[in-house]
Amino acid sequence: MPPFFDAVVVGASISGLWTLHCLKRQGLHVLLVDACPDVGGSWQYHRYPGCGVDAEVPYYEYSEPQLWGEWNWHSKFPDQAEIQRYLSFVCDKLGLRPHLRLDTRVTAAHWIDETRSWNIRLDLDRLVTSRYFVSCAGYATKPYIPDFPGRATFKDAFHTSQWPDGLQYRDKRVGVVGTGASGVQLIEAIASDVKELVVFQRSPNLATPKRQQALTPQQCREMKVSYPAVFRQRRSRSGYAVTHTTKTFDHSMAERQRTWERLWRKGGSAPWRDNYVDLLTDGSASDAFYEFWLHKTRHRIGDSRTADILAPNRPPYPFGTRRPALESRYFEVFNQANVHLVDLQNEPITNVSPSGVRTTGTHYDVDILVFATGFDFITGAMLAMDVRGRHGRRLAGCWDVDIDGSGISTCFGLMSRGFPNMFFPMGPQAPTALGFTPHMAEIQAGWLSQCLSKMKADGHEVVEPTEGAETMWREEVERANHSTLYPQSESWYMGQNIEGRRKQPLCYVGGIDRYVNFLDCNVQEGFPGFDFA
Ligand code: NAP
Repeated sequence: MPPFFDAVVVGASISGLWTLHCLKRQGLHVLLVDACPDVGGSWQYHRYPGCGVDAEVPYYEYSEPQLWGEWNWHSKFPDQAEIQRYLSFVCDKLGLRPHLRLDTRVTAAHWIDETRSWNIRLDLDRLVTSRYFVSCAGYATKPYIPDFPGRATFKDAFHTSQWPDGLQYRDKRVGVVGTGASGVQLIEAIASDVKELVVFQRSPNLATPKRQQALTPQQCREMKVSYPAVFRQRRSRSGYAVTHTTKTFDHSMAERQRTWERLWRKGGSAPWRDNYVDLLTDGSASDAFYEFWLHKTRHRIGDSRTADILAPNRPPYPFGTRRPALESRYFEVFNQANVHLVDLQNEPITNVSPSGVRTTGTHYDVDILVFATGFDFITGAMLAMDVRGRHGRRLAGCWDVDIDGSGISTCFGLMSRGFPNMFFPMGPQAPTALGFTPHMAEIQAGWLSQCLSKMKADGHEVVEPTEGAETMWREEVERANHSTLYPQSESWYMGQNIEGRRKQPLCYVGGIDRYVNFLDCNVQEGFPGFDFA
C-alpha cells in the first residue's frame, strides 16, 4: 500500500511552506515535496549575480510575530542568499523539516473517484496517495527561452534561473537577452566586471529607483515597532498603485509634481504602488506619470540614441502594465564604454551562432550568452506535471492556453471544477504576481484552512467549485482586467510573452483588498459556489 497523507503540497516555496504550516497546525498529516535539494522555491533557482527581491522589508516576510520577532534583515531589499537563509530559519522555527521530501519531483497527480483521493507519482516511480493535493509549484519556475534558430550551437548559454554556480564571467564578453526584472538586476551587477556587455533589448524597462540601504540590528528593532500596523495595512491595501484615493488630475500640476517627487525620493515600490489611483486605469494619467519618469531618467543617459532606446520620448506601453524593475545605476551602466545596447525593435535576432548572436543588422561576438527571457508564467510548472481530474481529464487540456484554446477557468484562482480537492495557491486568476508572496500565501492558506476545517466539522471528504462559481469568477477577472490598461500591453501578465498563446489575464488585477473581501465573504457565508460531498 502506498503511504497515505491528508495532504501533499508541491513546492517548498514561500506559499508551499506557509500552507504546510497551516495544514500541520490543523493536525493534518502533510507531506511537502520539492525537486530542489533545499527549501526556497524559485529562490533556489534564481541565483544570478544581483538577484534579490524588489519588495522592501517587511513586505516580503510572513506576518507571524514568532518569525519576525527573531529575524533581522541586513538590507532593505534582501538578496537571494538572505531570503534563502530566512526560509531556512522559517522551516526550523515552525518545525517543518520532518514534513519535507526534497530532491524529489512530482511527475503526476491523478484523482481517483472511488477512493476520493489523489494518486501522486514521485520520480523513481514512487507513489503516495493523499486526500488533498496542493500545488505551490511557483509562478516563475519554468524557464522560457525563445526558440532562436541555432540556439543549441552556442555552448555557454544559460537562462537566468539556471545560472551555474561559480560561472567565470569576469573579463569575458557577455550577451544578455531580455531586460525584465532579472535582466536589469543582472546587467547592473556584472557590467563593471565583464570585458564587454551586449544587452539585447526588445522593450524598455521603465525602472524606478530602488534606494537600497543596509540595515543594522538597531534599525531592524526600531522598524519592528510599526510591523503590526504595516501588516494590517498590507492586508487592506488593494495591491499596486492604489493607496492614494485621489485621481491624477484632481491635483494641480504643482501638487502632482510634489507627490511624484516624494514617491521618487522614497523609491522602492512607492512610485508604482503609492501612485494616484488611476495610474493603471486612465491612459492620460499613465502618460502624465511617464513624462515625469522620462524627465527623471533620460538625462542620466549620455548618448541621445541610447536614450531613445532605453527611455523613448513616447511611452512604449502604459506605465506599470509591465512590472517596472527597481534599479540603482541601471541607466548609467549604458554610459560605460564596455556596454553596448542593441535595439531589437530595429534589428531583431535572426539566429544564435556558435560564437554569438546575429541580428538583421550584424553579428555580436560573445563568450557567454544569458537568456533573461522570463518564464512560462503561473501555469507552466503546474501543467508540467501530469495532473488529471475526474474521468481522467488532463488539467493541461482543461486550461488550454494556446491561442485558440478555451483558456483558464478557476474559482478565486484557487480551485478548478473537475479537479476535486486540488488547490493551487499563487495560481492563475488570483492576484499572484501583483501581491507580496508571503502575504498572498497567508491570504490563500487562510481560506484553504477554513475550507478544510468546515469539511472536517461537517464530515465531508470532497470539495469542488460549481460551474456557476467559476463563471462568476472568470467574469470578475475579465471585468477587472478590462477596467485597467493591462490589456493594452503585450506582457506576460496577459500571457503574451510566449508566441502562440491566448491573450488572457493570468493575474486578478481587481485589487488585493477586493480579493480578500471575496474570500472572507465566501468563508462567512459558508462557502457558496463550492459543492461538498
Ligand atoms: P520577464 O519580465 O518576462 O522579462 C523577459 C525579458 O525578455 C523581457 O525584456 C522580454 O522582452 C525579453 N524577451 C522575451 N522574449 C524575447 C524574444 N523572443 N526576443 C527578445 N527579447 C525577449 O522575466 P524576468 O525578468 O525573469 O522577470 C519575471 C518576473 O519574475 C518578474 O516580473 C517578477 O515577478 C519576478 N522576478 C522578480 C524579481 C525581483 O523581485 N527582483 C527578480 C526576478 C524576477 P519584452 O518585454 O519585449 O517581452
